[in-house]
Amino acid sequence: MTFQEIQQKLSSKQISVEEIVKNYLTQIQNKKSLNAFIDVFENEAIENAISIDKKIQNGNAGKLAGMVIAVKNNIAIQNHLLTCGSKILENFKSLFDATAISRLKKEDALFIGATNLDEFAMGSSTETSYFGVTKNPIDETRVCGGSSGGSAVAVAANMSTVALGSETGGSVRQPSAFCGVYGLKPTYGRISRYGLVAYGSSLDQIGICGNSVYDIALTLETISGVDENDSTSANVIVDNYISNFNKNIKGLKVGIPKEYFTDGLNAEIKESIFSQIEILKSNGVEVVEISLPNSEYTIPTYLIIAMAEASSNLARFDGARYGYRANDVKTLLDMYIKSRSVGFGDEVKRRIMIGTYVLSSGYYDAYYRKAQKVRRLIYQDYVDVFRKVDFIITPTTPTTAFKIGEKNSDPVTMYLQDIFTVSANLAGICGISIPIGKDKLGLPIGMQILGKHFDEKTILNVANFIERK
Ligand code: GLN
Repeated sequence: MTFQEIQQKLSSKQISVEEIVKNYLTQIQNKKSLNAFIDVFENEAIENAISIDKKIQNGNAGKLAGMVIAVKNNIAIQNHLLTCGSKILENFKSLFDATAISRLKKEDALFIGATNLDEFAMGSSTETSYFGVTKNPIDETRVCGGSSGGSAVAVAANMSTVALGSETGGSVRQPSAFCGVYGLKPTYGRISRYGLVAYGSSLDQIGICGNSVYDIALTLETISGVDENDSTSANVIVDNYISNFNKNIKGLKVGIPKEYFTDGLNAEIKESIFSQIEILKSNGVEVVEISLPNSEYTIPTYLIIAMAEASSNLARFDGARYGYRANDVKTLLDMYIKSRSVGFGDEVKRRIMIGTYVLSSGYYDAYYRKAQKVRRLIYQDYVDVFRKVDFIITPTTPTTAFKIGEKNSDPVTMYLQDIFTVSANLAGICGISIPIGKDKLGLPIGMQILGKHFDEKTILNVANFIERK
């Protein structure tokens, strides 16, 4: 059910919040093999549901009463585990709520559990988690995408109404595409990062997975906006996205970047996207071929910046302040080394090593500084293009969901999964992946709509239009 359907059923008293929660809990139980959750808040969710039902009866419930949310386990919920999919934080509980969480609580949204993720959000398949692989509900031999894989699966397999994820390079959009749901990456600064465990701080944003554009828009409206606890949160007006739905799309201009539709692209994905573009065209949208000339540099630029920032952010996990500490150590240094060697998995170690290398003296100018300069050019490509078009359409992913294990032995082919998504994080713009069909194997195909900085309004309106069509 979408939240709109839930709202209708609640207002006609066909269902209670308690029943909704119990239904989701049953689904979670029945679909355990998917491994979407690290932690399920069973009793707490039922208790909260009962108290929200009372509020509804008394007429003083918040606007999200009846919305049940699953939360990627790198977003802090007070008194709950915050593992980041890592052994190093296996038993760590958060002392406070992320800003996004407290804003949702205020509106009576309810949390059902913490979802699985690639360790510290590093990955594209939810295979690097210490808590095991999350499987694709459409075909359990395939990956669900990542790193917010558990969140996309929770929504796709009816275990929650919406789910929060996080985006550093595509981690909400890509698993949403693989699982056939909607997935939004907001503009950098739109949502407070307070309580989101840092991976690449200049790229990170909380994102949202949902079964409808309406659900995502409503959640976004609730959690967006400036926050004194995050100096990078932007003081920019939060639009009323839903009232902007149904606004005529006629006369809008869509940009189709030629660099994104080359021969390497899967033919079925290409075809489905072009059939959507035809629909937009016949509804008065003008199609413009555009160029994003620095596209070939997006992956190396992203990897250098993301890994550099990750190596710095993850320095705090030293066995002293948080989480796992190795015993059987003789010196302080020994304690740091053993705690980190045992606590982190291979992918995280790989990234810390590369990140440390590109920041080290002698290599800083050649890699990190250079990457920052190229990042500026990628940003400028978008600024230039958005003078000519209102939004951009691309594929979300180069392929549909691949087999579990298929890309594990070669990190570079895994990194190439993000080829269509990372530039939005580098430029800080917003984007949404929407399901537009299936390939021959029945696997979902995602289409990406990219928008200007803080113009979630336009991409949500276009996404809602396509959803209704
Ligand atoms: N797959 C990308 C990476 O591994 C993006 C991850 C993310 O967005 N958190 O870095």
